[in-house]
Amino acid sequence: MLSLDFTNTLDYRHSDNSTESLTSYERFLDWAVEKNITEQDAADKLKYSEREPEEALNRVLQLRELLYRLLSAAAMKKHVAEEDLDCFNSHLAEALGHTRITQTDGGFDWSCRPGGGGSEWIVYTIVKSAADLLVSNQLDRLRVCANPQCGWLFLDSSRNRSRRWCSMDSCGNRAKARRFYKRHQHNPDLLR
Ligand SMILES: [Zn+2]
Repeated sequence: MLSLDFTNTLDYRHSDNSTESLTSYERFLDWAVEKNITEQDAADKLKYSEREPEEALNRVLQLRELLYRLLSAAAMKKHVAEEDLDCFNSHLAEALGHTRITQTDGGFDWSCRPGGGGSEWIVYTIVKSAADLLVSNQLDRLRVCANPQCGWLFLDSSRNRSRRWCSMDSCGNRAKARRFYKRHQHNPDLLR
């Protein structure tokens, strides 16, 4: 899901070794291509036409952190801060003002494309995706990874809704290894 992929561009956000994927405005546009929000040609044009890429990136990162606060609070069934919700609603008003219904081969779809030529519509698409999730019945399945350092958000699609980690390969196995170590730390032979 787009809004979750966006918040997860900061890896291990609650640790000292967090890894930022969006290290530049160009990387953000590359990410948007990867996520099929835009095409490579359009992204390349935007890379060259943005006069203040650092400011544009800062706006993107501020929005990401706002979405993270909202969605992680929602995942933990906590109330979100009023000012965050107000701020999100201003973004949403702008996004909806630029949202259209367009025709596709099989029917219709949402499309966020202002005529101005900037990259704002990429951000509108992400904001719309977050708003859709917040009011959808999938919100019940929204989780924060149980690894306290990770902080990734994911949708739990397991049948009994018991998934705890963003990925078994990374956080799940790490948690298991830690438990194993704790259990056996008084018996070092088992760790060899
Ligand atoms: Zn995780």
